[in-house]
Amino acid sequence: MMQSSQTSAPPIRPDPISTRDSAFFWEGAERGELLIQQCEQCRRLWHPPRPMCPQCHSVKMGHTRVSGRGTVYSWIVPVHPPAFGFAAPPVVALIDLDEGVRLVSNVVGVAPEAMRNDIAVMVDFEPTQGGKRVPVFRPCEEKA
Ligand code: ZN
Repeated sequence: MMQSSQTSAPPIRPDPISTRDSAFFWEGAERGELLIQQCEQCRRLWHPPRPMCPQCHSVKMGHTRVSGRGTVYSWIVPVHPPAFGFAAPPVVALIDLDEGVRLVSNVVGVAPEAMRNDIAVMVDFEPTQGGKRVPVFRPCEEKA
């Protein structure tokens, strides 16, 4: 398990806003699991969670734990206005998971000037001010 970079300061990252559709996602994150919604009829994965399958229109939904491995599709560093709940402007990225689902998250553990598209990343979880955890991504150690 990768060690998070912890400081003595309490986390200021806002808590996630859980809805009936997304509760499983956030509850998984609290356990350190990245869960993606999956249609029980056609097995398609999708994100963000929604009440009906976009492919076959089934409302029988499940979810599956994914590897957490992915690549950065694109990214930005929002500067103005300052992002609420961050001491420094975060790297906001579109992550393409190996399982074929794209999600919005933060890339941590990398300087903005070192960011680029297509880097390999792995999920990690960071604490929020209310004691929950949310998924973020860290660059993978590239072995030469
Ligand atoms: Zn379906």
